[in-house]
Amino acid sequence: MAAIRSQSQIDAHPAGRVGKDTDLVTGGGGEEKQALSGVRAQSVIVVFVKALVKSKSEPGLWLEDIEIPKIGINDVLIRVLRTGICGTDVHIYQWDEWARQTIPVPMAVGHEFVGRIVEAGSNVNDFFPGDLVSGEGHQTCGRCRNCLAGRRHLCAHTKGVGVNRPGAFAEYIALPMTNIWRHPESVPLDVAAIFDPFGNAVHTALTFPVLGEDVLITGAGPIGIMAAGVARHAGARFTVITDVNPYRLDLARKMGVTLAVDVRETKLGEAQKQLGMTEGFDVGLEMSGNPAAFRDMLANMSHGARIAMLGIPSQEMSIDWRTVIFNMLTIKGIYGREMYETWYKMTVMLQSGLDISPVITHRYPYTEFQEGFEVMSSGRSGKVILNWE
Ligand code: NAD
Ligand code: ZN
Repeated sequence: MAAIRSQSQIDAHPAGRVGKDTDLVTGGGGEEKQALSGVRAQSVIVVFVKALVKSKSEPGLWLEDIEIPKIGINDVLIRVLRTGICGTDVHIYQWDEWARQTIPVPMAVGHEFVGRIVEAGSNVNDFFPGDLVSGEGHQTCGRCRNCLAGRRHLCAHTKGVGVNRPGAFAEYIALPMTNIWRHPESVPLDVAAIFDPFGNAVHTALTFPVLGEDVLITGAGPIGIMAAGVARHAGARFTVITDVNPYRLDLARKMGVTLAVDVRETKLGEAQKQLGMTEGFDVGLEMSGNPAAFRDMLANMSHGARIAMLGIPSQEMSIDWRTVIFNMLTIKGIYGREMYETWYKMTVMLQSGLDISPVITHRYPYTEFQEGFEVMSSGRSGKVILNWE
Protein backbone atom coordinates (compact mmCIF):
# COMPACT_ATOMS: atom_id res chain seq x y z
CA MET A 1 0.00 0.00 0.00
CA ALA A 2 0.93 3.61 0.21
CA ALA A 3 4.16 4.88 1.61
CA ILE A 4 4.01 7.82 3.97
CA ARG A 5 6.34 10.60 3.02
CA SER A 6 8.36 13.15 4.94
CA GLN A 7 6.84 15.40 7.60
CA SER A 8 7.51 18.51 5.50
CA GLN A 9 5.37 17.12 2.69
CA ILE A 10 2.63 16.21 5.16
CA ASP A 11 2.71 19.71 6.63
CA ALA A 12 2.72 21.26 3.16
CA HIS A 13 -0.41 19.40 2.13
CA PRO A 14 -3.70 20.97 3.23
CA ALA A 15 -5.05 17.69 4.44
CA GLY A 16 -3.21 14.89 6.19
CA ARG A 17 -0.47 12.57 4.98
CA VAL A 18 0.41 12.27 1.31
CA GLY A 19 1.10 8.78 0.11
CA LYS A 20 2.28 7.15 -3.10
CA ASP A 21 0.23 4.24 -4.29
CA THR A 22 2.14 1.67 -6.23
CA ASP A 23 -0.92 -0.43 -7.08
CA LEU A 24 -3.45 0.07 -9.83
CA VAL A 25 -5.71 3.07 -9.38
CA THR A 26 -8.93 2.15 -7.62
CA GLY A 27 -10.93 5.24 -6.98
CA GLY A 28 -8.32 7.53 -5.51
CA GLY A 29 -4.89 5.94 -5.61
CA GLY A 30 -1.64 6.30 -7.54
CA GLU A 31 0.79 9.07 -8.43
CA GLU A 32 2.63 9.66 -11.70
CA LYS A 33 1.51 6.28 -12.92
CA GLN A 34 3.11 4.62 -15.88
CA ALA A 35 0.84 3.58 -18.73
CA LEU A 36 -0.34 0.02 -18.17
CA SER A 37 -1.56 -2.01 -21.16
CA GLY A 38 -2.87 1.00 -22.98
CA VAL A 39 -4.32 2.81 -19.93
CA ARG A 40 -3.29 6.47 -20.09
CA ALA A 41 -0.80 7.59 -17.49
CA GLN A 42 -2.38 9.72 -14.79
CA SER A 43 -1.34 11.72 -11.82
CA VAL A 44 -3.37 11.12 -8.66
CA ILE A 45 -2.38 11.92 -5.13
CA VAL A 46 -3.57 9.75 -2.27
CA VAL A 47 -3.91 11.41 1.11
CA PHE A 48 -4.10 9.24 4.18
CA VAL A 49 -5.56 10.32 7.48
CA LYS A 50 -5.89 8.69 10.89
CA ALA A 51 -9.24 7.18 11.84
CA LEU A 52 -10.78 4.83 14.40
CA VAL A 53 -12.04 2.04 12.22
CA LYS A 54 -14.29 -0.93 12.89
CA SER A 55 -12.05 -2.99 10.66
CA LYS A 56 -12.78 -6.47 12.01
CA SER A 57 -16.02 -8.18 12.93
CA GLU A 58 -15.01 -8.55 16.59
CA PRO A 59 -14.89 -6.37 19.74
CA GLY A 60 -12.57 -3.34 19.49
CA LEU A 61 -11.69 -0.41 17.28
CA TRP A 62 -8.46 0.06 15.39
CA LEU A 63 -6.49 3.26 14.76
CA GLU A 64 -5.66 3.11 11.05
CA ASP A 65 -4.69 5.19 8.03
CA ILE A 66 -7.66 5.61 5.72
CA GLU A 67 -7.98 7.52 2.48
CA ILE A 68 -9.19 11.05 3.09
CA PRO A 69 -12.95 11.23 2.36
CA LYS A 70 -13.87 12.65 -1.04
CA ILE A 71 -16.42 15.42 -1.32
CA GLY A 72 -19.19 15.81 -3.88
CA ILE A 73 -20.45 19.14 -5.13
CA ASN A 74 -22.92 19.49 -2.23
CA ASP A 75 -20.50 18.40 0.51
CA VAL A 76 -17.93 19.98 2.78
CA LEU A 77 -14.69 18.48 4.05
CA ILE A 78 -14.03 19.07 7.74
CA ARG A 79 -10.83 18.81 9.77
CA VAL A 80 -12.07 17.18 12.97
CA LEU A 81 -10.79 18.81 16.19
CA ARG A 82 -12.69 17.08 19.03
CA THR A 83 -15.06 14.13 19.22
CA GLY A 84 -17.35 12.80 21.93
CA ILE A 85 -17.80 9.10 22.70
CA CYS A 86 -21.48 8.11 22.68
CA GLY A 87 -23.14 5.05 24.18
CA THR A 88 -23.73 3.95 20.57
CA ASP A 89 -19.97 3.96 19.99
CA VAL A 90 -19.54 1.76 23.05
CA HIS A 91 -22.06 -0.72 21.58
CA ILE A 92 -20.04 -0.69 18.34
CA TYR A 93 -16.80 -1.11 20.27
CA GLN A 94 -18.20 -4.03 22.28
CA TRP A 95 -19.75 -5.47 19.09
CA ASP A 96 -23.11 -6.44 20.53
CA GLU A 97 -25.90 -7.99 18.49
CA TRP A 98 -27.30 -4.63 17.34
CA ALA A 99 -23.84 -3.49 16.20
CA ARG A 100 -23.14 -6.77 14.39
CA GLN A 101 -26.38 -6.41 12.46
CA THR A 102 -25.97 -2.71 11.71
CA ILE A 103 -22.38 -1.59 11.19
CA PRO A 104 -20.65 -2.21 7.84
CA VAL A 105 -17.06 -3.47 8.21
CA PRO A 106 -14.63 -1.82 7.61
CA MET A 107 -15.81 1.71 8.40
CA ALA A 108 -14.66 4.70 10.46
CA VAL A 109 -17.21 5.23 13.26
CA GLY A 110 -18.27 8.11 15.55
CA HIS A 111 -20.75 10.95 15.14
CA GLU A 112 -20.22 13.54 17.89
CA PHE A 113 -17.66 16.08 16.69
CA VAL A 114 -16.60 19.64 16.06
CA GLY A 115 -14.15 20.72 13.39
CA ARG A 116 -13.28 23.36 10.82
CA ILE A 117 -14.25 23.29 7.17
CA VAL A 118 -11.21 22.96 4.91
CA GLU A 119 -12.95 22.57 1.56
CA ALA A 120 -16.45 23.15 0.16
CA GLY A 121 -18.02 21.57 -2.94
CA SER A 122 -18.82 23.75 -5.95
CA ASN A 123 -22.56 23.91 -5.09
CA VAL A 124 -21.90 25.07 -1.53
CA ASN A 125 -22.22 28.82 -1.32
CA ASP A 126 -22.75 29.60 2.35
CA PHE A 127 -20.13 27.56 4.18
CA PHE A 128 -16.48 28.48 3.92
CA PRO A 129 -13.06 27.13 4.84
CA GLY A 130 -12.35 28.08 8.44
CA ASP A 131 -15.97 27.82 9.64
CA LEU A 132 -16.30 26.09 13.02
CA VAL A 133 -18.95 23.40 12.55
CA SER A 134 -20.57 20.25 13.86
CA GLY A 135 -22.60 17.75 11.89
CA GLU A 136 -26.14 16.56 12.43
CA GLY A 137 -25.74 12.81 12.95
CA HIS A 138 -28.82 11.87 10.94
CA GLN A 139 -28.54 12.19 7.18
CA THR A 140 -32.06 12.54 5.80
CA CYS A 141 -33.34 11.49 2.37
CA GLY A 142 -34.78 14.84 1.32
CA ARG A 143 -37.53 13.15 -0.71
CA CYS A 144 -39.97 11.46 1.67
CA ARG A 145 -43.23 13.14 2.69
CA ASN A 146 -41.83 14.49 5.95
CA CYS A 147 -38.58 15.75 4.42
CA LEU A 148 -40.49 17.56 1.67
CA ALA A 149 -42.76 19.11 4.28
CA GLY A 150 -39.77 20.45 6.22
CA ARG A 151 -40.10 17.88 9.04
CA ARG A 152 -36.69 16.37 8.46
CA HIS A 153 -36.43 14.92 11.97
CA LEU A 154 -39.31 12.62 10.94
CA CYS A 155 -37.56 11.38 7.78
CA ALA A 156 -38.52 7.81 6.97
CA HIS A 157 -35.07 6.91 5.62
CA THR A 158 -32.40 8.42 7.88
CA LYS A 159 -28.82 7.21 7.69
CA GLY A 160 -26.64 7.48 10.80
CA VAL A 161 -23.21 9.10 10.58
CA GLY A 162 -20.68 6.58 11.90
CA VAL A 163 -23.42 3.94 11.93
CA ASN A 164 -24.64 3.42 8.36
CA ARG A 165 -22.05 5.67 6.66
CA PRO A 166 -18.45 6.74 7.49
CA GLY A 167 -18.08 8.63 10.74
CA ALA A 168 -16.25 11.37 12.60
CA PHE A 169 -13.61 9.49 14.61
CA ALA A 170 -11.08 10.56 12.01
CA GLU A 171 -8.90 13.54 11.20
CA TYR A 172 -11.31 14.39 8.37
CA ILE A 173 -14.97 13.81 7.60
CA ALA A 174 -17.03 14.72 4.51
CA LEU A 175 -20.71 15.60 5.01
CA PRO A 176 -23.52 17.07 2.92
CA MET A 177 -23.95 20.81 3.53
CA THR A 178 -27.50 20.10 4.69
CA ASN A 179 -25.99 18.33 7.73
CA ILE A 180 -23.82 21.22 8.88
CA TRP A 181 -24.35 23.52 11.85
CA ARG A 182 -22.03 26.52 12.15
CA HIS A 183 -20.97 27.49 15.69
CA PRO A 184 -20.21 30.96 16.92
CA GLU A 185 -16.50 31.15 17.83
CA SER A 186 -17.54 31.69 21.47
CA VAL A 187 -18.60 28.04 21.94
CA PRO A 188 -15.82 26.05 23.69
CA LEU A 189 -14.56 23.20 21.47
CA ASP A 190 -15.37 20.47 24.00
CA VAL A 191 -18.94 21.72 24.31
CA ALA A 192 -19.33 22.08 20.54
CA ALA A 193 -18.14 18.47 20.19
CA ILE A 194 -21.16 17.17 22.13
CA PHE A 195 -23.93 19.11 20.40
CA ASP A 196 -25.35 15.80 19.16
CA PRO A 197 -26.22 14.38 22.63
CA PHE A 198 -26.83 17.90 23.98
CA GLY A 199 -29.39 18.09 21.17
CA ASN A 200 -31.05 14.88 22.37
CA ALA A 201 -31.32 16.49 25.81
CA VAL A 202 -32.69 19.77 24.45
CA HIS A 203 -35.14 18.09 22.08
CA THR A 204 -36.53 15.99 24.93
CA ALA A 205 -36.49 18.64 27.66
CA LEU A 206 -38.22 21.25 25.49
CA THR A 207 -40.83 18.91 23.99
CA PHE A 208 -43.33 20.00 26.64
CA PRO A 209 -43.46 23.40 28.40
CA VAL A 210 -41.47 23.27 31.66
CA LEU A 211 -41.84 26.86 32.87
CA GLY A 212 -42.97 26.67 36.49
CA GLU A 213 -43.38 22.88 36.29
CA ASP A 214 -41.88 20.09 38.37
CA VAL A 215 -39.74 17.89 36.14
CA LEU A 216 -38.69 14.31 36.81
CA ILE A 217 -35.72 12.91 34.87
CA THR A 218 -35.11 9.16 35.14
CA GLY A 219 -31.48 8.23 34.31
CA ALA A 220 -28.53 10.50 35.15
CA GLY A 221 -26.42 9.52 32.16
CA PRO A 222 -24.80 12.39 30.26
CA ILE A 223 -28.05 13.10 28.39
CA GLY A 224 -30.24 13.02 31.51
CA ILE A 225 -27.85 15.37 33.31
CA MET A 226 -27.81 17.82 30.40
CA ALA A 227 -31.61 17.62 30.15
CA ALA A 228 -31.87 18.53 33.84
CA GLY A 229 -29.72 21.61 33.19
CA VAL A 230 -31.87 22.55 30.19
CA ALA A 231 -35.14 22.15 32.14
CA ARG A 232 -33.84 24.37 34.92
CA HIS A 233 -32.62 26.96 32.41
CA ALA A 234 -36.05 26.87 30.75
CA GLY A 235 -37.75 27.76 34.03
CA ALA A 236 -38.74 24.51 35.76
CA ARG A 237 -39.43 24.85 39.49
CA PHE A 238 -37.95 21.51 40.61
CA THR A 239 -35.68 19.22 38.60
CA VAL A 240 -35.44 15.80 40.23
CA ILE A 241 -33.16 13.20 38.66
CA THR A 242 -32.88 9.50 39.50
CA ASP A 243 -30.19 6.89 38.98
CA VAL A 244 -28.61 3.88 40.69
CA ASN A 245 -25.04 5.10 40.10
CA PRO A 246 -23.65 7.42 42.86
CA TYR A 247 -20.91 8.84 40.58
CA ARG A 248 -23.52 10.05 38.13
CA LEU A 249 -25.85 11.37 40.82
CA ASP A 250 -22.93 13.46 42.11
CA LEU A 251 -22.33 14.75 38.60
CA ALA A 252 -26.01 15.70 38.36
CA ARG A 253 -25.65 17.66 41.63
CA LYS A 254 -22.74 19.57 40.06
CA MET A 255 -25.11 20.46 37.23
CA GLY A 256 -27.40 22.03 39.81
CA VAL A 257 -30.42 19.71 40.04
CA THR A 258 -32.88 20.27 42.88
CA LEU A 259 -32.59 16.65 44.04
CA ALA A 260 -30.54 13.69 42.82
CA VAL A 261 -32.24 10.52 44.05
CA ASP A 262 -30.64 7.09 44.37
CA VAL A 263 -33.77 4.98 43.85
CA ARG A 264 -32.15 2.04 45.61
CA GLU A 265 -32.35 4.05 48.83
CA THR A 266 -35.06 6.68 48.46
CA LYS A 267 -38.52 6.32 46.96
CA LEU A 268 -39.74 9.04 44.62
CA GLY A 269 -42.76 9.52 46.88
CA GLU A 270 -40.38 10.50 49.70
CA ALA A 271 -38.55 12.88 47.39
CA GLN A 272 -41.87 14.53 46.54
CA LYS A 273 -42.67 14.94 50.24
CA GLN A 274 -39.23 16.39 50.91
CA LEU A 275 -39.95 19.09 48.33
CA GLY A 276 -43.49 19.72 49.59
CA MET A 277 -45.03 18.33 46.42
CA THR A 278 -48.49 16.79 46.70
CA GLU A 279 -49.78 15.96 43.22
CA GLY A 280 -46.82 14.43 41.34
CA PHE A 281 -44.48 15.62 38.61
CA ASP A 282 -45.85 17.62 35.70
CA VAL A 283 -43.26 16.65 33.09
CA GLY A 284 -41.26 13.41 32.85
CA LEU A 285 -38.09 12.91 30.81
CA GLU A 286 -37.29 9.19 30.53
CA MET A 287 -33.55 8.93 29.91
CA SER A 288 -32.54 5.52 31.25
CA GLY A 289 -34.20 2.98 28.98
CA ASN A 290 -34.82 1.04 32.17
CA PRO A 291 -38.33 -0.46 32.62
CA ALA A 292 -38.27 -0.10 36.43
CA ALA A 293 -37.37 3.59 36.08
CA PHE A 294 -40.22 4.15 33.64
CA ARG A 295 -42.78 2.38 35.82
CA ASP A 296 -41.59 4.43 38.79
CA MET A 297 -42.05 7.56 36.72
CA LEU A 298 -45.59 6.63 35.67
CA ALA A 299 -46.53 6.11 39.32
CA ASN A 300 -45.23 9.56 40.32
CA MET A 301 -46.77 11.81 37.67
CA SER A 302 -49.60 14.28 38.23
CA HIS A 303 -52.92 13.84 36.44
CA GLY A 304 -52.59 15.17 32.90
CA ALA A 305 -48.78 14.99 33.06
CA ARG A 306 -46.62 14.70 29.97
CA ILE A 307 -43.74 12.32 29.39
CA ALA A 308 -41.05 12.55 26.72
CA MET A 309 -39.21 9.27 26.18
CA LEU A 310 -35.66 9.23 24.86
CA GLY A 311 -34.20 6.20 26.67
CA ILE A 312 -34.16 3.08 24.54
CA PRO A 313 -35.26 -0.10 26.35
CA SER A 314 -33.29 -3.15 25.29
CA GLN A 315 -36.51 -5.06 24.66
CA GLU A 316 -40.31 -4.84 24.90
CA MET A 317 -41.52 -3.62 28.27
CA SER A 318 -44.85 -3.80 30.01
CA ILE A 319 -46.44 -0.97 31.97
CA ASP A 320 -49.73 -0.54 33.78
CA TRP A 321 -51.68 1.20 31.01
CA ARG A 322 -54.50 1.91 33.46
CA THR A 323 -52.27 4.58 35.05
CA VAL A 324 -51.81 6.20 31.64
CA ILE A 325 -55.56 6.10 30.97
CA PHE A 326 -57.03 7.08 34.34
CA ASN A 327 -54.40 9.81 34.89
CA MET A 328 -54.73 10.98 31.28
CA LEU A 329 -50.98 10.97 30.67
CA THR A 330 -49.40 11.99 27.37
CA ILE A 331 -46.35 9.96 26.28
CA LYS A 332 -44.25 11.01 23.33
CA GLY A 333 -41.24 9.22 21.81
CA ILE A 334 -38.22 11.36 20.96
CA TYR A 335 -35.60 10.51 18.35
CA GLY A 336 -32.55 12.59 17.48
CA ARG A 337 -32.82 16.35 17.18
CA GLU A 338 -35.11 18.71 15.27
CA MET A 339 -33.29 20.03 12.24
CA TYR A 340 -32.38 22.71 12.97
CA GLU A 341 -34.59 24.21 15.64
CA THR A 342 -32.88 22.11 18.35
CA TRP A 343 -29.46 23.28 17.13
CA TYR A 344 -30.61 26.89 17.27
CA LYS A 345 -31.94 26.44 20.81
CA MET A 346 -28.69 24.82 21.96
CA THR A 347 -26.64 27.70 20.64
CA VAL A 348 -28.80 30.45 22.11
CA MET A 349 -29.22 28.73 25.49
CA LEU A 350 -25.40 28.64 25.80
CA GLN A 351 -25.40 32.34 24.95
CA SER A 352 -28.03 32.99 27.61
CA GLY A 353 -26.01 31.35 30.35
CA LEU A 354 -26.63 27.58 30.25
CA ASP A 355 -23.41 25.76 31.14
CA ILE A 356 -23.25 22.06 30.27
CA SER A 357 -19.49 21.75 30.73
CA PRO A 358 -19.75 19.93 34.14
CA VAL A 359 -20.99 16.88 32.21
CA ILE A 360 -17.58 16.57 30.48
CA THR A 361 -15.40 14.54 32.84
CA HIS A 362 -12.58 13.02 30.77
CA ARG A 363 -10.37 14.19 27.91
CA TYR A 364 -7.82 12.11 25.96
CA PRO A 365 -5.75 12.46 22.80
CA TYR A 366 -7.27 10.24 20.09
CA THR A 367 -4.30 7.89 20.34
CA GLU A 368 -5.51 6.98 23.87
CA PHE A 369 -9.01 6.07 22.72
CA GLN A 370 -8.83 2.72 24.56
CA GLU A 371 -8.75 4.56 27.90
CA GLY A 372 -11.71 6.65 26.76
CA PHE A 373 -13.81 3.60 25.92
CA GLU A 374 -12.80 1.90 29.17
CA VAL A 375 -13.87 4.80 31.35
CA MET A 376 -17.14 5.11 29.37
CA SER A 377 -17.86 1.44 29.97
CA SER A 378 -17.05 1.72 33.70
CA GLY A 379 -20.01 4.04 34.38
CA ARG A 380 -17.63 6.38 36.24
CA SER A 381 -17.75 9.12 33.64
CA GLY A 382 -19.89 11.77 32.09
CA LYS A 383 -18.98 12.73 28.53
CA VAL A 384 -15.56 11.62 27.29
CA ILE A 385 -13.81 13.80 24.70
CA LEU A 386 -11.08 12.74 22.25
CA ASN A 387 -8.75 15.44 20.93
CA TRP A 388 -7.77 15.05 17.23
CA GLU A 389 -5.41 18.06 16.98
P1 NAD B 1 -26.48 6.15 29.73
O1 NAD B 1 -26.60 4.69 29.54
O2 NAD B 1 -25.14 6.74 29.97
O3 NAD B 1 -27.44 6.61 30.94
C1 NAD B 1 -28.52 5.87 31.41
C2 NAD B 1 -28.51 5.99 32.93
O4 NAD B 1 -29.66 5.34 33.44
C3 NAD B 1 -27.29 5.35 33.58
O5 NAD B 1 -26.57 6.31 34.35
C4 NAD B 1 -27.90 4.25 34.44
O6 NAD B 1 -27.19 4.03 35.64
C5 NAD B 1 -29.30 4.81 34.68
N1 NAD B 1 -30.25 3.82 35.20
C6 NAD B 1 -30.23 2.47 35.10
N2 NAD B 1 -31.24 1.92 35.79
C7 NAD B 1 -31.94 2.94 36.36
C8 NAD B 1 -33.10 3.02 37.18
N3 NAD B 1 -33.75 1.92 37.58
N4 NAD B 1 -33.51 4.25 37.57
C9 NAD B 1 -32.88 5.36 37.18
N5 NAD B 1 -31.76 5.34 36.39
C10 NAD B 1 -31.32 4.15 35.99
O7 NAD B 1 -27.15 6.81 28.48
P2 NAD B 1 -27.12 8.28 27.83
O8 NAD B 1 -26.03 8.37 26.84
O9 NAD B 1 -27.23 9.33 28.87
O10 NAD B 1 -28.50 8.17 27.01
C11 NAD B 1 -29.72 8.06 27.72
C12 NAD B 1 -30.67 7.09 27.03
O11 NAD B 1 -31.10 7.66 25.79
C13 NAD B 1 -30.09 5.73 26.69
O12 NAD B 1 -31.11 4.75 26.85
C14 NAD B 1 -29.75 5.86 25.21
O13 NAD B 1 -29.76 4.62 24.54
C15 NAD B 1 -30.88 6.74 24.73
N6 NAD B 1 -30.62 7.56 23.54
C16 NAD B 1 -31.69 7.76 22.72
C17 NAD B 1 -31.56 8.58 21.62
C18 NAD B 1 -32.75 8.85 20.77
O14 NAD B 1 -32.60 9.51 19.72
N7 NAD B 1 -33.93 8.39 21.16
C19 NAD B 1 -30.33 9.19 21.33
C20 NAD B 1 -29.26 8.98 22.21
C21 NAD B 1 -29.42 8.17 23.31
ZN1 ZN C 1 -36.77 11.75 4.29
